[in-house]
Amino acid sequence: MSAEQSTEYLSPRALRQHFDLPECGREICDPATQEIVGWAPQPDAKDVDQAVSVARNAQKKWAERAGSERCDILMQIADAIEQQAESLAQLLSREQGKPLNGPNARFEVQACIDWLRATASFKLEPETLFDDDSGKAVMYYRPVGVVGAIGPWNWPMMISIWQIAPSLRMGNAVVLKPSEYTPLSVLALAHVINSVLPEGLLQVVAGEREVGEAISTHSGIDKIMFTGSTQTGKAIIKAAASTLKLTTMELGGNDPGIVLDDANPTAIAADLFWGAFINTGQTCACLKRLYVHDSIYEDVCEELKRFAQTIPMGPGLNESNLLGPLQNAQQLNIVKRLVEAAKDSGARVLMGGELPQDNQAGYFYPTTLVADIDNNNPLVTEEQFGPVLPIIRYHTLDQAIEWANSLPVGLGSSVWTPDPERAQAVAQQLEAGTTWINKHGQVDPRMPFGGIKQSGQGVEFGIEGLKQVALQHVIHH
Ligand code: NAD
Repeated sequence: MSAEQSTEYLSPRALRQHFDLPECGREICDPATQEIVGWAPQPDAKDVDQAVSVARNAQKKWAERAGSERCDILMQIADAIEQQAESLAQLLSREQGKPLNGPNARFEVQACIDWLRATASFKLEPETLFDDDSGKAVMYYRPVGVVGAIGPWNWPMMISIWQIAPSLRMGNAVVLKPSEYTPLSVLALAHVINSVLPEGLLQVVAGEREVGEAISTHSGIDKIMFTGSTQTGKAIIKAAASTLKLTTMELGGNDPGIVLDDANPTAIAADLFWGAFINTGQTCACLKRLYVHDSIYEDVCEELKRFAQTIPMGPGLNESNLLGPLQNAQQLNIVKRLVEAAKDSGARVLMGGELPQDNQAGYFYPTTLVADIDNNNPLVTEEQFGPVLPIIRYHTLDQAIEWANSLPVGLGSSVWTPDPERAQAVAQQLEAGTTWINKHGQVDPRMPFGGIKQSGQGVEFGIEGLKQVALQHVIHH
């Protein structure tokens, strides 16, 4: 039976009732259809005070519980999300715009479940540093207290879980501010989490920028986990300095991919495409500029185009769509501006690049591939964060590596070649938190993930991620 025949689609009203979401406040519309999905609450700095006070109280008892008990609760939260997965995915699709299928809404909800289970399974025991004639020293990992989490609109549920799961696991409470563009997805997720979690440990204050600012400066918050733009990250670090908070920063990227001259264009086309167009290009660590050797340049362009033409774009609740709209008008304007800059420079548009005359109601921009573009064009040097990929021709590998490293950001990167030794040699020279070989953007809860340069500080996931939401305490006998 196809998913379409078996799926019941809940109306926005039914979803609001199901997840106990507000019936008044700031209007939130579906970016694909402009239909009202619901209303966001309008909290302010006082609500942050209240949330912090509740979280601080709840955190004390939580920290006293055994780590294994906290892990059991994370597992129960994963089960609760699994039971609500389809309704969560439908709400996410309606609010964020991403289709239900493909690497989109259902995939995102499944990632929440997977990350919770993985985070609960990591072992982080006290470490004996030495135990000899000079004495014994043991390092313990203590909770930091209350974590302030601030998130973006592109993967609102999954990124919230990336912040919540390790924080809770290590004995912290969380005060979370979702993006003002996607508050309902996070409120619904928190509703499910809080049906399992002891009261007070997860507080969502779904406000706008002022709420983020209040969290960044609040004396009752010990650590900020932030995912969003580099510009906002810098503002938060400045604000957090007033109380010397710890910070983990997952910021913007402009990931390069380098296709070597021995790659097979037909074999890599699908993975290249999804490396760039996952979540309609609105992904921090997706392929945003592709460097292709001159000898196979035309073939790679042709194969990418051939594959891209088979991937349907449209409203999220249509089961056949795999690409959706931009999430908001502001992001659509950024994408339009960058493609216009490319066209003005004489770059060759292989497909897309124009809004259709009969443009749909939503913030759609067609899948766009741009060839013969200079490395210094704004579409290459700025983060487009949309369904557009510039493809740059290179002649020598040194030149490609230099271009790949030439920007002040360094989140992900990729190398495409069937030769593992060549891949390794190039990967070693790339300035990025992660380099993938023959794929791009495949995060894994066991691999620490983070950016270098202006893409961030610190890492998430794995044991290293747990350490970021803990304080190291050495006891020396
Ligand atoms: P954004 O920086 O505009 O907003 C992110 C969050 O910060 C929102 O909740 C917003 O309300 C809040 N905020 C804004 N100004 C603030 C301030 N002065 N103080 C405190 N909070 C403030 O980012 P966005 O547009 O929502 O997300 C897109 C960006 O996020 C892209 O650059 C993308 O690359 C990046 N991103 C990075 C990662 C990663 O893991 N590195 C993941 C996803 C997105």
